[in-house]
Amino acid sequence: MVGYDPALSENAVTVPIFPASTYVFPTAADGELQFARAYHLPRDDGQQPGLIYARLNNPNLEIFETKMAAIEEGAACAAVFPSGMSAITTAILATLGPNSRVLYTDPVYGGTYFFLRFLGERFGITAVPVDTSQIDLVERALSDATEPFDMILIETPANPTLSMTNIRRVTELAKEYCGDKQTLVMVDNTFLGPVFLRPFECGADLVAYSATKFIGGHSDLIAGVILAKDPKLMSLIKDYRTILGGTVSPFTAWLLTRSLATLWPRMLWQAANAEKVARALAADHPKVERVLYPGLLRPEDGEAYETYQQQCTGPGSLISFYLRDDSWDAAQRFLNSLETWHLAVSLGGVESLVEHPRRMTHSDMTIEDLDSCGITDGLIRLSVGTEDPADLISDLEQALDKV
Ligand code: PLP
Repeated sequence: MVGYDPALSENAVTVPIFPASTYVFPTAADGELQFARAYHLPRDDGQQPGLIYARLNNPNLEIFETKMAAIEEGAACAAVFPSGMSAITTAILATLGPNSRVLYTDPVYGGTYFFLRFLGERFGITAVPVDTSQIDLVERALSDATEPFDMILIETPANPTLSMTNIRRVTELAKEYCGDKQTLVMVDNTFLGPVFLRPFECGADLVAYSATKFIGGHSDLIAGVILAKDPKLMSLIKDYRTILGGTVSPFTAWLLTRSLATLWPRMLWQAANAEKVARALAADHPKVERVLYPGLLRPEDGEAYETYQQQCTGPGSLISFYLRDDSWDAAQRFLNSLETWHLAVSLGGVESLVEHPRRMTHSDMTIEDLDSCGITDGLIRLSVGTEDPADLISDLEQALDKV
């Protein structure tokens, strides 16, 4: 039998996949030491544990995490999870306890909303939605609070309205109003990062991703990432990951590593396409009421424009727009007439997707919450891919004609 020869992979331009679920200890004492490191036991010498068992870590996971921490400006370390929701909920559960309070962006992705609105209270977490794109509302919520907040969770641009939150202003206000409490600021950077937005440079403590989106980029995996500035905070989050069992497979970690190589060109290309699509939709189309896209912001948009200019280096490739006819009937006619665009949820992949937030990704929100943040039946969300923008635009036009 031919055994594994590491020399075989030495000249390979890509890393191999290590599917092993468990790893051989050279000696029993080494096994004891590795567990002491992993579980912070008295014999822990403060070093990172080596390879033990693939739920704790594995080579593909470590390769991806090292690269991810290197490309996210200001990050010290990264942890990969089996989904964006697993990343966000594990980070929340690890850092907050009973009687904790979270202020979160309104609106946010439907899954994050569901956890904070309906599940968090079972863990003693009180969650307060605030339209964080309006900094005076954030200030009012912080100054009126009887107890300081333990966490502020920002999603910017927000899904699906693309409203823009000024991360630096929020972190400054958190310091001003929450005093010694050390309010953690976590930013869901799924829509623009790491290419167009660097939350650590704006004062964030944690950055979260649905890596299912741009980081994976090919609609062929589900994953999430948390990045931190503080390795101690990350160690706590990784303990929760280990015990809640939220580790990705070596194959998913390998796919993610492969995708990082093209992340920059993909995001730049998709954003260039999206700018063309957004401009075409905004060019006074009789069936389109309003287009929401960071690249269309103008000085007259005030706070949103200033925030975009200050903290983003590009507009990304998510566009939302309102049909002039704000009915489900009109939306269905439009969606069912598209031929080039795929009618599918998710975003950030190389293929262009279209979806209906009110009836799909955000349908877990209450009607009152949907109405209050403008997620109406006329709102359509587009994720622009790498196809020829002329084809994407002509398909939108022919479908709009059917409305
Ligand atoms: N955050 C944002 C902004 C999202 O859009 C999504 C999913 O669409 C998530 C988090 C959840 O990610 P996942 O589906 O990978 O769990």
